[in-house]
Amino acid sequence: MTIKEVTNYIEQLAPLTYAEDFDNVGLLVGNKNTTVTGVLVTLDTLEKTVDEAIAKNCNLIISFHPIIFNGLKKITGANYVEKIVIKAIKNDIAIYAIHTALDNSAHGVSAKMAEVIGLKNTKVLIPQQGNIKKLTTFVPKNNADELRLALFEAGGGNIGNYDQCSFNIDGTGTFRGNVDSNPTLGEKGKIHFENETQIGLIFEKHLESKILQTLFANHPYEEVAYEVTTLDNLHQNIGMGMIGELEKPIDTEEFLSLLKHKFNLKIIRHSQLVYKKIKKIAVLGGSGSFAIKNAKKAGADIYITADLKYHDFYQADNQIILADIGHYESEQFTKNLLVDYLTKKITNFAIILSENNTNPINYF
Ligand SMILES: [Zn+2]
Repeated sequence: MTIKEVTNYIEQLAPLTYAEDFDNVGLLVGNKNTTVTGVLVTLDTLEKTVDEAIAKNCNLIISFHPIIFNGLKKITGANYVEKIVIKAIKNDIAIYAIHTALDNSAHGVSAKMAEVIGLKNTKVLIPQQGNIKKLTTFVPKNNADELRLALFEAGGGNIGNYDQCSFNIDGTGTFRGNVDSNPTLGEKGKIHFENETQIGLIFEKHLESKILQTLFANHPYEEVAYEVTTLDNLHQNIGMGMIGELEKPIDTEEFLSLLKHKFNLKIIRHSQLVYKKIKKIAVLGGSGSFAIKNAKKAGADIYITADLKYHDFYQADNQIILADIGHYESEQFTKNLLVDYLTKKITNFAIILSENNTNPINYF
């Protein structure tokens, strides 16, 4: 199995188009056609991670955070990033990062946090915009069913808990082929009227080439009439953070103790405990100060995230409890998520959970 085949599986879970614009995701070091000997899954790629990969015969590191983030102009070993990249290249170790693509996946980082906490009725906290496209095509009425089904099978027509969603209108199409044409219906040089069906359906942006290939393969015309448009609609299953509920309200201090236990925390930095009981909970793995307003707006009793600064805590404003559990701590189960997912898909070689704690922050 090649690196590309392994990363294709990851991208079924978290397509790279889900990633934020500022990010640097995908294969960062290595050749996609290399045969994989083993996969090491880690939150961060450090020198000790590369050493671990070498020792465990894994030539592919799947890292949550990208080691190359701001671009490299020189690779001389002058800083930790360059040293790690040199070590990986010298030892034929490939590095792949998934980062915000997995943050924005409905089965990603925050979903895993929600699962560990035991949240029910979960929803994406900040649904992403710009990820939905729409195909409109015109096809002879007799071919409409077959084409529509093929488009559904390619991933078109999914909305929330529904699949096979489309809208269809029957009408009359006209066309006239020139001397070089080879019309499926009618004769060249003569206008032709055909009973056609207009099919409209939406699809996720990353599926565009697959949808268009399917359209061309299943449409009978020499020239396929179609339109692709980008919608401004929010995608309810793609985006940062999650919000959900506990089965029953729980005493706030009891909940914080539970959180400490489940995430193995030494400390929780939190704003004033303005609620006696907790039921509705928002989570966002990693730096989450940007989503405080979303958590408040969604009516969360508590927002669990990381990297909150002094002034961020003031934003709680007696309307929510803000809880900072630490960046590494909030994302720690992402490794397990990736290992569990890949282990189900791949049986040819080992998918290994890194033993290294890559948290740069220590507590005294
Ligand atoms: Zn992070």
